[in-house]
Amino acid sequence: MMTANNNRVVLTLLASLLLATGCQSKYQPIETSAAQLNGPLASLHQPGSQGAGQQDADSVSSKGGPFGPMEQSSVSAAGTGNDSTAAASAESTGPAGTAVDAETAASAGTTAAAETVPQDTAAPEFTAADETVYVTGSDVNVRSSYSTSSEIVATLNTGASVKRTGYNGEWSRVIYQGKECYIASAYLSAEEPERQAVVQPAAAEGEVRLNPDWKYAEFSEINSGAAMLYRADGEKRKGITVCVNAGHGTKGGSSVKTLCHPDGSQKVTGGSTAAGATTATAVSGGMTFSDGTPEPKVTLALALKLKAKLLDAGYDVLMIRESDDVQLDNIARTVIANNAADCHIALHWDSTTNNKGAFYMSVPNNSAYRNMEPVKSHWQQHNALGESLIGGLRDAGVKIFSNGAMEMDLTQTSYSTVPSVDIELGDKASDYSDATLDTLAKGLLAGVNAFFGQ
Ligand SMILES: [Zn+2]
Repeated sequence: MMTANNNRVVLTLLASLLLATGCQSKYQPIETSAAQLNGPLASLHQPGSQGAGQQDADSVSSKGGPFGPMEQSSVSAAGTGNDSTAAASAESTGPAGTAVDAETAASAGTTAAAETVPQDTAAPEFTAADETVYVTGSDVNVRSSYSTSSEIVATLNTGASVKRTGYNGEWSRVIYQGKECYIASAYLSAEEPERQAVVQPAAAEGEVRLNPDWKYAEFSEINSGAAMLYRADGEKRKGITVCVNAGHGTKGGSSVKTLCHPDGSQKVTGGSTAAGATTATAVSGGMTFSDGTPEPKVTLALALKLKAKLLDAGYDVLMIRESDDVQLDNIARTVIANNAADCHIALHWDSTTNNKGAFYMSVPNNSAYRNMEPVKSHWQQHNALGESLIGGLRDAGVKIFSNGAMEMDLTQTSYSTVPSVDIELGDKASDYSDATLDTLAKGLLAGVNAFFGQ
């Protein structure tokens, strides 16, 4: 765990430069995807970086990295009274796939200032702005306020765009998913990174297996199988990877137990595993539809339809399962999604029998649960994705249960570090004809589009 380097880098010069370049209106904004371009690709190359590599003003490593201090030479690093370190600047890292991360965004040798710099809690002045800016680093934090102690609303990767409404030396006020948030100015640039330059060929389509070095991988018990990554074709490729997880379909999964929570704490809601339990079925077998059809067959049929629609729309797709059996438990599926995708959608039907409609499993409003990592840093993203998916389904004419959400403490949610949702498309009595599955896939695609601002 890194301690915050309480160095301040005054980026007035950079801010002026950004202002001077103005809004690059010739570029098509690519909106606030949590995922542009090298997000998942970088993750594949940086096992275990998820969660630990998030950056903003406080997460700058002292290691230095290949870029050295660069423009930091022109900035003051001490005594300016704030807890924020603006690291390697956007301009200096350039568009060529060399975006800063927690290791490379360093301001070498400035950690000594940490103890001497007082916290500044006074509200800073923000200069008004109205421009589209682009994220220039990996896992850049979007915060609820202009402080590194404020809540992390989301993390963004290179190329994600936001509207900037104001800035000061270290913080930019931005509009993210309709809300006013803050991002360290050092990770924003008015210039859109070049897309092709950051696409890394090593992440070509193919199998993705659980890397034992990935965060939480050790909690998985069944992980000899492989997910499959598909890339969208050329021009329309968005550089956003959606993990499609056809629920269930792991032989032997119901006789193996895994920890409900990575910290070993008790489940806070009942469900297929009761509240208070600390272990749950690694992957359950799923329910059986009223007509005798097993749930895993239907989740797979929908997953394949959704895959086709997502690829056609330009999304890369990480398929957890494309046959009746994949030897990946819920934790393995989740950790693979964490490291190789920008969101994780698990498809299910519920075990009730009244055709009650679709809903998503929202993050329980339970303070212990919402304060447990990685839930703490990601629960809002999970719920935002769920709301987007329900919105898409509703617009497609799908029947929605109640308000479309049901609080549930799930293994998937408890280990997810990317926006992640278990969505129940209906129940045992629901129709799952080809036409209905088409409609569901269409609604889910619309929800994904809405979530990523596409
Ligand atoms: Zn299910």
